Amino acid sequence: MTRISDVAEIKRVIDQGHTFSIIVHKGPDGDAMGSSLGWARILSGVGKQVQVITPDAFPHFLNWLPGCENVQVYDRDTREAEKSFADSDGVFCLDFNAPGRMGDAWEFLKGAGKPLIVVDHHQAPDSFANHYYTDDTASSTAEMIFRLASELGFENLVDQDVAYCLYTGLVTDTGSFRFDSVSPDVLRIAASLIETGMDHTRVYAEVYDSNTLSRLRLQGFALSEKLQVIEDGRVAYITLSADELAQFSFQKGDTEGLVNYGLSISGVRLAAFFSEKDGVIKISFRSKGQVNVNELARAHFNGGGHVNAAGGRGDGAMEETIEKFKSVVSNWI
Ligand code: 5GP
Ligand code: MN
Repeated sequence: MTRISDVAEIKRVIDQGHTFSIIVHKGPDGDAMGSSLGWARILSGVGKQVQVITPDAFPHFLNWLPGCENVQVYDRDTREAEKSFADSDGVFCLDFNAPGRMGDAWEFLKGAGKPLIVVDHHQAPDSFANHYYTDDTASSTAEMIFRLASELGFENLVDQDVAYCLYTGLVTDTGSFRFDSVSPDVLRIAASLIETGMDHTRVYAEVYDSNTLSRLRLQGFALSEKLQVIEDGRVAYITLSADELAQFSFQKGDTEGLVNYGLSISGVRLAAFFSEKDGVIKISFRSKGQVNVNELARAHFNGGGHVNAAGGRGDGAMEETIEKFKSVVSNWI
């Protein structure tokens, strides 16, 4: 368990500044978007100017979150985003703890001399920032934002819009409140958010009941044609090539959650999902119990994450990446 809580320093940066930006990880998910948009609205509530920047586009099932229409996407709005960074009195780094996860934005930020503040819940933060508010036992960055807001005396700024954002982070990072990370405190935070009068059923409907037909067909194809089980039923994996994704009119977010089907098979302890994007093999790992996919991703696949949910990428093409996976996986289960 690692906790870092530079609250006094973070308070000083906020008090002394007027303009802030918030950057999240590449391939932003519900927690990245929810925590950053929620934090932006809280900071706006104390009179700050705030810009949320994502390294690349966010999935369509999050395009209803309050404030998402003002997000700058670094790989599309590069000049505007760099101006936002340059104008900032501080940059909040949310839902990641290794600078490479912000993609090319890091190339700009690392020389910009801005105070960097990490708010996150992943394991083993890299030392690239000035201040940290992190806890690797927390369910989500949304939880960390709620806790930070409380510690800073900003609780009264958690209105319905903030609640929609943070609740989305909680729901998506806890598998709808079913993972080990769900503590009584997480449910108390959820309760506080619902007490704002927000419609919590809308969050689930927007995020999960928003399938397109092509997405469902892609999932059907992946499960019927591409799911492999190895290691005496203890490991399951799915691969999807760029061509296969294109056949089903792949849109960002369409493969979200696919890896969990592998893990749902009785007896499977480790599941992986390999997909090809722009010539790179992106990998998602999930595991049960003591099987540590964070270590596996760090050791072999240029990645990391949490004990039971991690990601990374392959060095070569799909076949080589799968060969490597098959050759090392027995050591990790
Ligand atoms: P996902 O499989 O949903 O993309 O990611 C699962 C978890 O692993 C997330 O918590 C995410 O932050 C982390 N993760 C995913 N990809 C990478 C990566 O390339 N590097 C690192 N360090 N963590 C990753
Ligand atoms: Mn998260």
